[in-house]
Amino acid sequence: MIEIDGSVGEGGGQILRTSLALSMCTGQPFKLTRIRAGRAKPGLMRQHLTCVNAATQISAAEVQGAEMNSQSLAFRPGAVRAGDYNFNVGTAGSCTLVLQTVWPALLMANAPSRLALGGGTHNPMAPPFHFLARSYAPLMRKLGADVGLTLRRLGFYPAGGGEIEADIWPAADKLQPFDLTTRGEQREAYAECFAPALPRTVAARELERVGAAMGWTGDALRAVFVQQNEGPGNALIATLAYENITEVVTQFGEKGISAEKVAQDLVRDVRRYQVHDAALGPHLADQWALPLSLAVWKRQRAASYTCTELTPHAKTNFEVIERFMPVRFAVSADGKGWLVVCSPA
Ligand code: AMP
Repeated sequence: MIEIDGSVGEGGGQILRTSLALSMCTGQPFKLTRIRAGRAKPGLMRQHLTCVNAATQISAAEVQGAEMNSQSLAFRPGAVRAGDYNFNVGTAGSCTLVLQTVWPALLMANAPSRLALGGGTHNPMAPPFHFLARSYAPLMRKLGADVGLTLRRLGFYPAGGGEIEADIWPAADKLQPFDLTTRGEQREAYAECFAPALPRTVAARELERVGAAMGWTGDALRAVFVQQNEGPGNALIATLAYENITEVVTQFGEKGISAEKVAQDLVRDVRRYQVHDAALGPHLADQWALPLSLAVWKRQRAASYTCTELTPHAKTNFEVIERFMPVRFAVSADGKGWLVVCSPA
């Protein structure tokens, strides 16, 4: 039984999700203690419990401690079963994080799966749907893991109610690790505003401010058609598409924060990425580690990537991955950013 201390490093939910994902992929049981000890409200929240329950369901696992607020969990997976599943967080908690928990195990299964996921689709502190669809999924396909993602309904905090469908195809024999160290030529850069159930002026003000700061006009500024029953909520998203990578940067509007401030924060984050030439932004840098390491382990061949920042999330994820698989992460400074090499141990 692999013992993981949930308070190490970043001390958040990612330690749980990576442990669940890799436990199912490798068949190794684990015990996690001090779950999310680094967070204001430690233990399993609704979203984390949904991840545990989803993992339990797809792998017929024996599990102890799967209850709200639990600070320890023992998880012993059985064989992963592909199939049709429905996982609903039941609150506005992120359903994209539930998807990321079961995705690696289902792509290692021997038949396709179809998932219906419910909850938040655009949450602060989680990958928004458009990040998964444009940044993460294309890299997964390049790795050999085909996937289809459809957004059925937007879900924002606090109302939730978002819906995503995911088709995951078997890829255990197809995974091929690859290096991702340059962005390549820029192809497209644009901003979109999602603001269901909010006054129209919100999108107009946010896009105008982004356009003025970035020099973007016309079709590079998009107020997206939304259903009024999808909100209320506000996500301002910049998509920077390059030949080898697409970076998706998101800011969320909140009551009491002006549309101009939301736009200004987005522009700051876009510029922070643009001043670098490393391939991956801060979020992909932690999320790419798991699928890449699976491919490295399967093919016994090293692969690397460059990233603009090495966050505590990334470093913690490397440590947890190394506990489950015979791979090693080596990190070195590279220009203004970092080079990460994942090798078979
Ligand atoms: P945790 O805080 O441990 O629950 O992990 C949160 C996860 O969500 C990490 O993998 C982050 O990289 C990811 N994440 C948070 N914000 C964003 C964002 N704006 N875009 C993409 N991923 C994000």
